[in-house]
Amino acid sequence: MIIGVDVGGSLIRVAMATSNLDNIKIKIKPTPKQNEFSIINSIILLITEFMVENSIENDQILGIGLATAGPIDQVKGHVFNNANLGFKEIPLKIPLSERFPGIPIFLINDCNASALGVHFFEASEDEKDNLAYITLSTGIGGGVICNGRLLLGKDGNAAEIGHGIVDPRSIFQCNCGAHGCWEVYSSGTGVKNRAIEEIEDTSLSSKILMFMIDNDKSNITPKKLFQAARGGDKFSKSIVEQCVFYSKIGIGMVNNYYDCSSIYFGGAMMNDQDLILPPLIQQFENDPLPFTINHPPKLKITKYITEIGVRGALTLVKYKLEGNTIVS
Ligand SMILES: [Zn+2]
Repeated sequence: MIIGVDVGGSLIRVAMATSNLDNIKIKIKPTPKQNEFSIINSIILLITEFMVENSIENDQILGIGLATAGPIDQVKGHVFNNANLGFKEIPLKIPLSERFPGIPIFLINDCNASALGVHFFEASEDEKDNLAYITLSTGIGGGVICNGRLLLGKDGNAAEIGHGIVDPRSIFQCNCGAHGCWEVYSSGTGVKNRAIEEIEDTSLSSKILMFMIDNDKSNITPKKLFQAARGGDKFSKSIVEQCVFYSKIGIGMVNNYYDCSSIYFGGAMMNDQDLILPPLIQQFENDPLPFTINHPPKLKITKYITEIGVRGALTLVKYKLEGNTIVS
């Protein structure tokens, strides 16, 4: 059996599958944040549950893939400086290898894992060697396969595209400290913050949104804002337009750097894809040049929006064990 783990800001997913990745079973739990070891303890508990329920011994586990929100330190096997998970360092690999000695453990950033998941579970032959995965979620992250190789970088954090700067003179500061990162405008957090900051100064009508949030701007959520935009709220529409515009810049940047055949999207913002994806597809199909000089990529949504990270963690183990050059 192969075990895959995906640690997100709010949920942990642990999956078990056979070595050819059939028959995937997934368990989900909220991400505990009591101390820096509570995440790994929770993961160990979920893996142990799987083993007990399926009468599996340690020596039947071929490997464990550990995908997590980054940044990661692949050598030391921990997460560092993650704003959502908290704590300066979160040890993962060492405590896991103490509980499961002798079992290979592979650590990977969650978006890089997702790119592998897309590669194995859904990409077609003509796109799989050059594809990017982009998550539009609380933040924005990416994973890139270029010339049939997953790009990792020195620590395993290549393609941190959400912190690509799309407006360097912006007054809006990102969690990372820089100004005008893509995720400042187009992530869930970005959409919410832009709406809260701009709603008092706008001359556009925000009646529908104000009604939905009981006239209290602290009640604004991306979901409500997209709903109000759908209902015709002019202010909400302008925030959505901003989200889409900066995504065009971000996607153009990714395509200029990596020359992708396809870009797959995932993440919670894809619940409102009807307002995001069609204008992006239209732009890159009909008039790509304002945003990318390279041939435009196909833009798609992953079939496994919530599961692609944990599926990617399983894929990482499979590819590592079979010596696939994509991850070597
Ligand atoms: Zn940033």
